[in-house]
Amino acid sequence: MIIEFLGTGTSHGIPVVGCACPVCTSADTRNQRFRASLLVRGNTGETLIIDTGPEFRLQAIRSKLHKLDAIFLTHAHADHLHGLDDVRPLSCHTPLPVYGNKPTIDEMKARFSYVFRETQIGGGKPQLQPTIVETDGAGIESIRIGSLLITPVPVYHGRLPILGWLVEEGPARVAYLTDVSEIPHTSLQLLQNLDILVIGALRKRPHPTHFSFDQALELIQRVQPRQGLFTHLCHDFSHQEVCRYIEKQNISLQRVSPAYDGLTVQL
Ligand SMILES: [Zn+2]
Ligand SMILES: [Zn+2]
Ligand SMILES: [Zn+2]
Repeated sequence: MIIEFLGTGTSHGIPVVGCACPVCTSADTRNQRFRASLLVRGNTGETLIIDTGPEFRLQAIRSKLHKLDAIFLTHAHADHLHGLDDVRPLSCHTPLPVYGNKPTIDEMKARFSYVFRETQIGGGKPQLQPTIVETDGAGIESIRIGSLLITPVPVYHGRLPILGWLVEEGPARVAYLTDVSEIPHTSLQLLQNLDILVIGALRKRPHPTHFSFDQALELIQRVQPRQGLFTHLCHDFSHQEVCRYIEKQNISLQRVSPAYDGLTVQL
């Protein structure tokens, strides 16, 4: 599979509207971050996306996205959802499945209520097929999309239960966890033997609902993926400054770095 970072910024994106800080005005394109989203392309042509943030349309054009088999939502905050209407050109003929936990799907239906109404006056709407992923009781069920197997990873974003997603294709394993502040023990078990762990790491300073750099590094030390990539970054540090911060922590066992928009990794 190939993963491509469509966006790696926190909820404001970078540059932040009205901000003239050195990161927001940097000429290094790695400091220009759309809202966080990941594109996954399977070896036999499957295409799925994790989250549809406000820049989905621009991201899809930049990445030459011409088909989409499914959308996987982490949660319903605006920076992860509000580009959803722009999947219209990719869902003309068949309904597009959208997976999420119950709070996320309920919130998505409320936010985009016109999509699910029988009648609509004028204008088009995306054809969506919302699917609630159960993660309680009988255990966690995986979803198969062609050669890709996708498993929800329940985590907490402050007090909000949200989902990370584990994507597997054959032996290749990638986990995508953003907007995380706590990982239950049962979910840690899903994070073993990873090729790549993508982890939300907002900034150096602690935050009540997001991992800091140190908390993200701690998780990487704990689950030992072959590669760790930070996402959902804010404008406190430039790309280079995040690299230097990580280097100073002397994490010798893994390759860890901040992701950036457009970064593509083949597994
Ligand atoms: Zn977010
Ligand atoms: Zn700034
Ligand atoms: Zn959030």
